[in-house]
Amino acid sequence: MTAITHSPTSTNNQPRVIFAGAGPGDPELLPLKTHRLITQAQAILYAGSLVNPAVFEHCPPTAEVADSASMDLKTLCDWMITRVQAGKTVLRLHTGDPSLYGAIAEQIRHLKAANVAYEVIPGISSFLAGAALLGTELTLPGFTQTVILTRMSGRTPVPEKEALEKLAAHQATLVLFLSTGMVDKVAEACLTAYPPETPAALVYRAGWPDQQVIRGTLTTLPHQVKKAGINRTALIYIGHCLQGEGDDSLLYHAAFSHGYREGHQ
Ligand code: SAH
Repeated sequence: MTAITHSPTSTNNQPRVIFAGAGPGDPELLPLKTHRLITQAQAILYAGSLVNPAVFEHCPPTAEVADSASMDLKTLCDWMITRVQAGKTVLRLHTGDPSLYGAIAEQIRHLKAANVAYEVIPGISSFLAGAALLGTELTLPGFTQTVILTRMSGRTPVPEKEALEKLAAHQATLVLFLSTGMVDKVAEACLTAYPPETPAALVYRAGWPDQQVIRGTLTTLPHQVKKAGINRTALIYIGHCLQGEGDDSLLYHAAFSHGYREGHQ
């Protein structure tokens, strides 16, 4: 098995599967590397439920393009494996960044079992696109230096030791994927630790033409989200960072010295 890691793609012609992050939706938020691979693609398998087809608009007309939305794990892995075995490289496009809730681990296991090489190229996760829309620093000095990315238990269980009440106890910045339909349960769990007036926000379809931002507090957000009729493809942000008030960083403090600058009083 040859898993290719950190190899310069441009000089590597070995047929393989390239998992690439297609970003949150806006085709301009695609890494140049992934854009180049799209323009040279032989076969593209994309996660159609969330990947914007506009990102592969510039693939060659000869490229074979398929949507994995209706495929089960074996079908989609077989699709990739047969093409690699026929000498093609498959570009496997996932939404955001493939390492987050992307189900790539199970695909990689299948590829390894078939002795098919693979590579992973990062993408801009939706949680970063959402933070940009909110115009906020998630690691706000004076409040938190930690971001917790998590989800509510749904059909995919979350380990008990990561129950939201336990994570909320840190009062760090929380970002929840895959939990919009359970926004009231999210608020309830967080209210066991955060004050009720803690800012909370929902970002719907960041990077798509119909993107929406809803801002409120832990107490108001569930009602606002329900009223807007949103129950999927959104992220929930919780934490004081959304308020924007905090301490200045040391990094740019006039009296702080570091490798690139001498501080002064
Ligand atoms: N790998 C992806 C996440 C896939 S899980 C990433 O890095 O973004 C799918 C969940 O991601 C959705 O239920 C939603 O919570 C979030 N999501 C994906 N795209 C989104 C977008 N454009 N705007 C807001 N949330 C998004």
